[in-house]
Amino acid sequence: MARLVSVLEIRHRDPATQARAGILRTVHGDVRTPGFVPLATKATVKGLEPRDVKALGYDIVLGNTFHLFLTPGHELIRHFGGLHRFMRWDGAIVTDSGGFQVFSMGHGTVADEIKGRAPSGSERAGRILEIAEEGVRFRSYLDGSEKFMGPETSMEIQAALGSDLALVFDECTPFNVSREYTQRSTERTHRWLDRCVAWHTQHAPDHQLIYGIVQGGVYEDLRVESAEAVAARGVDGIAIGGSLGDHKEQMYEVVGWATRAIDDDARPRHLLGIGDVDDLIRGVELGIDTFDCAMPTRLGRHGVAVVPDPERRWRVDITGKRWERSEEPLMEGCPCPTCEAGMTRGYLRYLVRNKELSGLRMLTIHNLAYLARLMADLRDAVATGTLAERAKALRDGAPPRTGLL
Ligand SMILES: [Zn+2]
Repeated sequence: MARLVSVLEIRHRDPATQARAGILRTVHGDVRTPGFVPLATKATVKGLEPRDVKALGYDIVLGNTFHLFLTPGHELIRHFGGLHRFMRWDGAIVTDSGGFQVFSMGHGTVADEIKGRAPSGSERAGRILEIAEEGVRFRSYLDGSEKFMGPETSMEIQAALGSDLALVFDECTPFNVSREYTQRSTERTHRWLDRCVAWHTQHAPDHQLIYGIVQGGVYEDLRVESAEAVAARGVDGIAIGGSLGDHKEQMYEVVGWATRAIDDDARPRHLLGIGDVDDLIRGVELGIDTFDCAMPTRLGRHGVAVVPDPERRWRVDITGKRWERSEEPLMEGCPCPTCEAGMTRGYLRYLVRNKELSGLRMLTIHNLAYLARLMADLRDAVATGTLAERAKALRDGAPPRTGLL
C-alpha cells in the first residue's frame, strides 16, 4: 500500500515539458530517474554477471513473474531467500506481473511489433486455455502442463520473489480489438487491480512496493479513465501498459494522455516495454521515470549494436558481409568495455556468427552501456535546464555524453 513517505523524490523539473529527474527509493538502494531497467527475465541479464550490470551504471533490473513461475518456480527462489539472493543482485528489482506474457500466448499484435517485444518462439508455443474472471488457464511452453495465473497467484509469486517493485496482474489488451473489447478488458484489469492490492496489503513483504497498470488501448477516454482509476487505488507507482498504437506518434499521444491524467509528484511512472533511443527521449519529455525493454539485450545477442544513427533506427547489424574485414569499433569514441578494449566489428561479427558467448556478451555490454549513458545524459539535462538542446542533439544523432554516470 501507499507509503507515508513518498517513494519518489523529484529533484529537478524541465519547465517546458513534463520531464523530471530524481530518486526512486527502495530498500535495495536508490534508483536514479529517469532510468532504464535492463531485463533479467529469467533471473539473469543474459550473458552478464551482476557486477557487470552494476559497473555499467544500473541501479535496477527486471525479473519476470511468468517465466520464473514456470522455471525454476517461486518456491525454489523463496528457498534461496528471494530473487536478490538467488541471483546475487543487491540492487533494486522490479518484477513484471506475468500478464503480458500470459496474454501474448493468445495474441500476436502490432503492439508487440512497435514495442519490439514480440513473444519468442517458445512463448508462442504455450497456449491459453481459458480467460475467466478468476484468472487465466494456460499450457506451459516448457512441458505442456496446465497452469493457472490470476491476480492473487501473480502477487503471491512476486511476494516469494521478494522484488522491490511488484506489478499488478493485468489483462494486456492487444491492438487489433474493438473499443468494446478494450473497455471490457480495461474494466477487468481494474477489478484485478483491486484483488492484487487486497492480496498485497495482507501478505506482501513490507519492503515491496506495488505498481498499478494503466490500460485502455488507444482510446483517450479509456486511457484517462484507467489512469485515474489506477491512481485512485493508493498504489505506490503507476505503469503504463497494453497497446500503445501502431506507430510512434500514436504511442507518444497515448503515453501523454496517461501521464497527464496521473499528474502526481509522489508516485513514479513506468513505461512498460519501450526502449528505442528516440522513444526514451520522448518518454522522458512525457514524464516517464523508468523504462524497461528487451531491445538492447536481445539485439545484442543477435549481433545488432546500438549506435548514434537516427537514420537507421540507432542500430547497426554487424553480422553482414560488409563488416567482415572492418577494423572499426562498434562506435567511435565509445567508452564501454567492448569498444575501449579495441574490439573491431570484424572480430565481433566473426564471434556472433559463430555464436561465441563472448561475442554476444560484448555486444550486450556495449548496448546497455549506451542506454545507461543516454539516460545519464537526459538526467543531467533535466537537472541543468538544458533538456531542449540535449534532446534535439541526441535525436539528431549526437552520442550520449560520457562521464555523467
Ligand atoms: Zn561500446
